[in-house]
Amino acid sequence: MNMIRGKDTDMSEKITLSHGSGGRASHDLIEKLFVASFGSKSLGDLEDSAVIQAGREKIAFSTDSFVVDPIFFPGGDIGSLAVHGTVNDLAMRGARPLYLSVGMIIEEGFAYKDLETIVRSLKDGTDKAGVEIVAGDTKVVQSGKADRIFINTTGIGLLDMEFDISARNGRPGDTIILSGTMADHGATILCQREGLLIEGGFTSDSAPLNHMVAAMLKKAGKSVHVLRDPTRGGVGTTLNELAMSSGVGIRIHEKGLPIRDDVRGACELLGLDPLYLANEGKLLAFVAPEAAESLLAVMQQMEFGENACIIGEVTADHPGQVVLETIIGSARIIDMLHGEPLPRIC
Ligand code: MG
Repeated sequence: MNMIRGKDTDMSEKITLSHGSGGRASHDLIEKLFVASFGSKSLGDLEDSAVIQAGREKIAFSTDSFVVDPIFFPGGDIGSLAVHGTVNDLAMRGARPLYLSVGMIIEEGFAYKDLETIVRSLKDGTDKAGVEIVAGDTKVVQSGKADRIFINTTGIGLLDMEFDISARNGRPGDTIILSGTMADHGATILCQREGLLIEGGFTSDSAPLNHMVAAMLKKAGKSVHVLRDPTRGGVGTTLNELAMSSGVGIRIHEKGLPIRDDVRGACELLGLDPLYLANEGKLLAFVAPEAAESLLAVMQQMEFGENACIIGEVTADHPGQVVLETIIGSARIIDMLHGEPLPRIC
């Protein structure tokens, strides 16, 4: 056997849920096994989508698999989520998403009417995002060999050559904008799973962000340096990824972090930090400070951006680290998510 392993990898190690969490263990697996084995530069860049040259055009290319449990939840289902996830990953490079493929793995015995509902939701999602499903695949496995339905979507989008949006482009002085409230998706899924009644009725934020990104680029595209959707691992883990990719420090202000009161209450009840809970319809933007107010105004006028706000800034100090300035004025280091408090969140 000649497997490629990182030199620190324990040969007896087994894959655990934390390898799929989007946190520290996922990163180790991706870098030590996948990037090390496949070796492509795009993959090693660890972006939301690869940007590749195709003839004269630059295209963004991304894939994502969805195993969310439950498959139907307030604010969406596995179908809409599968569209939004890939559309958003393309948009996070500044691309205009165009085409998706959909692969489904279905467990024998799955209700036809549930499949119809999911297909309708996929179609509605693509209509809203302005993309088209142009290829697909279906597999059915024996009862008990998969859990109801898993969906993979792969997407391509076109890039405007004028703009350069990448996780590596954060610069000291950049203003950090979050497009709305944190943790809505993670809190919704967890409450559903635990059978908790959701008071106030918060729902998943699952939504396509490509129209908001297009409006931002139209307003001041050259001032947009970094975009990323804080999905698995939440705002806390995503900011750590961006701090590392850009080689900068990040300072955020607890006072400015947008969170619904009922979501905060649910997180307290469940003992979870909303900074690490998934979002499926939010983006983080690092933008030139002189353009921050005008970009913020554009976002606030768009659907899904009404609660956008500035949450912090990029610093030259403490590169690779995210520091939270608390309400009482102390500083706390926000690390990447460790372990896996919430498997199958997306
Ligand atoms: Mg993403």
